[in-house]
Formats: sequence, C-alpha cells, structure tokens
Amino acid sequence: MSDGTIYLDNNATTRPHPSVVEAMNQVLGDGFGNPSSIHGIGEAARHRVEGARAQVAGLIGARETEIVFTSCATESINTAMRGVVDAARAERSRVLITSVEHEAVHDVGTWLSSRGVEVGVLPVDGDGVLDMDRLDAELAHGPVLVSIMLANNETGVITPVAEVARRARDAGATVHVDAVQAVGKLVIDVETLGVDLLSLSGHKFHAPKGVGVLFVRRGARSRPFVIGAGQEGGRRGGTENVPGIVGIGVAAEHMGSGIEGRRTHLGSLTAAIEERLLAISDVRINGAREGRVPGTVNVCFKGIEGSAVVLTAAREGVCLSAGSACAAAQYGGSHVLEAMGVPFEYLHGAVRISCCETTTMAEVERACEVITRSVAYLRTMDPSTSLGES
Ligand code: PLP
Repeated sequence: MSDGTIYLDNNATTRPHPSVVEAMNQVLGDGFGNPSSIHGIGEAARHRVEGARAQVAGLIGARETEIVFTSCATESINTAMRGVVDAARAERSRVLITSVEHEAVHDVGTWLSSRGVEVGVLPVDGDGVLDMDRLDAELAHGPVLVSIMLANNETGVITPVAEVARRARDAGATVHVDAVQAVGKLVIDVETLGVDLLSLSGHKFHAPKGVGVLFVRRGARSRPFVIGAGQEGGRRGGTENVPGIVGIGVAAEHMGSGIEGRRTHLGSLTAAIEERLLAISDVRINGAREGRVPGTVNVCFKGIEGSAVVLTAAREGVCLSAGSACAAAQYGGSHVLEAMGVPFEYLHGAVRISCCETTTMAEVERACEVITRSVAYLRTMDPSTSLGES
C-alpha cells in the first residue's frame, strides 16, 4: 500500500478495485434513482442494476433471473437456509452442515435447531477434508437441505462441492453452497457444481461492503427472508443498494477473467510463505497441502497466541489475522482448527495470511521476516505474561 502497510488479511475484506470505485462514484454522483420508479431517473437506476445482474450471472454461469442482490453473504445464507426449511417445513426438517462452516452458517444452524429442526454436523479429517462416508450415512436420514462451503475462510481447504451436491440431490436434498472465499480463485459454475443456491459477498472480492448475492436456481423450493415491497422479483424486499450493486457487478466481471493467471500468482506467493514459515521451529501449516485455494496460509506456532503475533506484526505495518476476523472479535479459539483436531498446544497459535491479486512477492517476503521475528520475540517471553501483553 502507498503508506508501506502490507495488507495480508484479504479473507477478512478486500480493497475495492479502482474500476469498482470509479463506477460507484459515477452512480453516487448522478445515479440516485430508485429502480422501482417508472420515470427516467428510476429507469436509469434499474438499467444499472440489471447490467450488474448480468455481470454477476456471468461470473457463476447462472441465468440473470436467478440472481438476487442482498446486503451481505450473511443475509444470503440466512435467506437460503431459513428459506428452504420454511418452504419444506410440512414435510421434513433436517439440515446438514459441516463442522468447518463460517459462523453465518453455524449460527443459522443453531437458530434452526432451537426451533425444532434437526441439524447434523458433518466432521472433517485432520486436513480439513469432509468425511464423505459420514455424508452418505447422514443423507440416508433424508435432509431437506445440505449447506456446505466451497473454500474455507480460515484454511482455504476446498470442499468437493460437485460430488457432495450430486449425492445430496440424489437423496432429495436442496443444496446451498457458501462460495464467499472462492471468487476469482476457482472457476465457479453453478451447472458444474450442481447446486440450488449459492451465496457471495461483495467485499471479499474487491467490491464494497453492504452488498451480497444469492443465486436461487429456477424452480428451487425456497421462500424469501426479507419481505417487503416486492423488489428483486419478490425474493428480497428493500430498495436496492444501487451503487453497491453496480460495484459488485464490475468486480464480478473483473474476477471472472484471468483466473488462471491469478491462481498462478497466488500459488507462488503461497509456496514462498510456506517455505519461509516452515523454517521456524514448532510450526504447522493447517489444511490439506493440495486442495486449497491459493493465497491463504493458516499457520500455527506452538505455545504462543496467534493474536500476539498479529498484534506484534501490526506494529511493523503488517496486517494479518488470528484465524478468522470474525473469530478474532470474540476470540475463543478457532472452531475450524478444533474440528480438524489441531493439538491443544498449537490451537491458539493460529495466524492467517491471506493474499490478493495485487499482493507482491516482496510484500510476503517482508511479512514472513516480520512474523519470524515476532515469533522469536514472543517465545523469549514468559508464557504467563506474554498472552495478554500486546
Ligand atoms: N462465509 C464465509 C466463508 C466468509 O468468509 C464470510 C465472511 O467472513 C461470510 C460467509 C460472511 O460474509 P459477509 O461479511 O458478507 O456477511
């Protein structure tokens, strides 16, 4: 960044792409219309929203009519999960999620179970990979919904969504996928994946905060969550966030192109980070070595707090995260790493390094030097004082 800060917390949020900012500024300046108004100013706003819908549909291989704009992925996930259960309520009420889902999915699961829905939680192995035998066993109980993530926000581990979806749909379940962390790193095609619903978040792929997407396959049995004046074809009430929607459209187009080049760049950054950090003693990289999205490295340092490393590195202008940003706010350790069986002495030492397309090799090299120094410094401290020190 221009002030020398090295930002390696892109799984928490990304900087809006310049083309996104430019398009949004234009809308904020002269595109204030309400897309529901039938005069020219409203029509211009509607035109912009529909343009963005086409761009987002293009990113994931969907029809434009299958794209619903929301305020964030958390809203999309709430809509997907609660909407499917609501639509099927009379028949079945069993939902399957995995033990490594984002809090947005977990907490909707908890809410559903407090209302009498049975929620099964599928385990993962030590690499964070889903147990497919348990999936088959659980599918035999006839869930109405299976909600899984495409790429994990803490470790980057990829779920074989197409295979899960095939088995789940054979068992009669509707499938929702949280694809928030996969945009621009994996080709996302709703036909190849075979899913019914899919959630995205603008701020994770260089669009602004306050805008998300829910793909709802034509014919999927789901009910709206935010009910209002019939916007988004009656699937999400509330006047559309036109600047945000324009922004997510531009970002979707940008991220949909050049995926291979981006993957190669992120892959070489990942390899460089791992090589440097594995040179530190008592360290482990979490998540399958193969089968992760490039650009995310989750590393644990034995015996020290990840948040202490993050705070020490922040003093030197390197922005990292201890596990996930959401977990950091209410830090009690990572449920993802716990589900993977990471040993206790490593569990609280997690640091997540997450890159984006503009991250440079020089930045990750400098960040690794800072992390190495931080770990060495923290290890010289008395453990009883080091934890709350920084
Ligand atoms: N799902 C995953 C995998 C995430 O990483 C996040 C955000 O961290 C969310 C869902 C929630 O996204 P939003 O901030 O748009 O609600």
